[in-house]
Amino acid sequence: MVILVTGASGQLGQAIRHIASDTADCQFIFASSTDLDITNQERVNHFFENNRVDFCINTAAYTAVDKAESEPEKATLINVFGAKNLAIVCKKNNVKLVHISTDFVFDGSSDKPYLETDEPNPLGVYGKTKLEGEQAIIAHLEEYFIVRTSWVYSAFGNNFMKTMLRLASEKDSLNIVSDQIGSPTNAVDLAKALLSIIKSNSTQYGIYNFSNEGIASWYDFAKEIFRINKVSIAVNPIDTTAFPTPAKRPKYSVLDKTKIKTTFKIEIKSWQEALQQTI
Ligand code: NDP
Repeated sequence: MVILVTGASGQLGQAIRHIASDTADCQFIFASSTDLDITNQERVNHFFENNRVDFCINTAAYTAVDKAESEPEKATLINVFGAKNLAIVCKKNNVKLVHISTDFVFDGSSDKPYLETDEPNPLGVYGKTKLEGEQAIIAHLEEYFIVRTSWVYSAFGNNFMKTMLRLASEKDSLNIVSDQIGSPTNAVDLAKALLSIIKSNSTQYGIYNFSNEGIASWYDFAKEIFRINKVSIAVNPIDTTAFPTPAKRPKYSVLDKTKIKTTFKIEIKSWQEALQQTI
């Protein structure tokens, strides 16, 4: 089985590469944005014509949530047209697509974990373009798995955990938002879940949620990062209103994982255990 990973230099791409050597029965092609620009339709077609691919994991995305508010065209190009290009080329070449999406497709007004079937209502450009990317895939391809995830961190790339550790080495105290609630996701656990989906040979295509188990605020997440790393720093909880950002974020974005757990027999660790393992 040949698995193409797009956006391979990003955080999730690197996490997949990290576990690829444990997956002896699969051959991987890791394509960075310079190897394969998913917005270049001609290049994408050419790539698939010249490489045998069974599954494509699309981790490529425009992920700068705040910057997207001032760069909607660029975010649309990558998150919508890039996803559409891949869906069309996958259909043409009989390739199954595993595409990553986000909790930011929801507005956060719920008070119980979001199901895959709940109505999306993104608050900002990033979430809107990610939702439109999902819709483009659904419109052009039948054999897809769209996996929505949240609060991804790892030893790779830029993420909240690494930002916290850097800031702790520069400051005496930190103010962290405590009124946004979600679930942290270890990128390596997400990568393993994606490979479980692929290896299952399942034809139960559709949208799935994945994060680690349990809920946290950014404040809880930061406190746990410092506790496990034995970093001594004052951490103060603050409201979102005290930390204004260009993009609005959902207040509550916990995802219900029942569907992915029962369909693919995946066991999911608590976010605290996953964080401990990462550190
Ligand atoms: P990163 O930003 O770390 O990686 C994204 C990668 O996409 C980068 O390597 C980037 O390359 C690449 N890319 C950008 N434009 C193109 C293009 N036109 N063609 C090919 N590659 C391109 O993101 P993550 O790995 O953290 O995210 C993976 C997925 O998970 C994304 O779909 C994201 O929306 C989703 N997600 C992430 C969350 C998070 O907290 N990180 C939360 C929820 C969902 P380059 O750097 O060279 O531009």
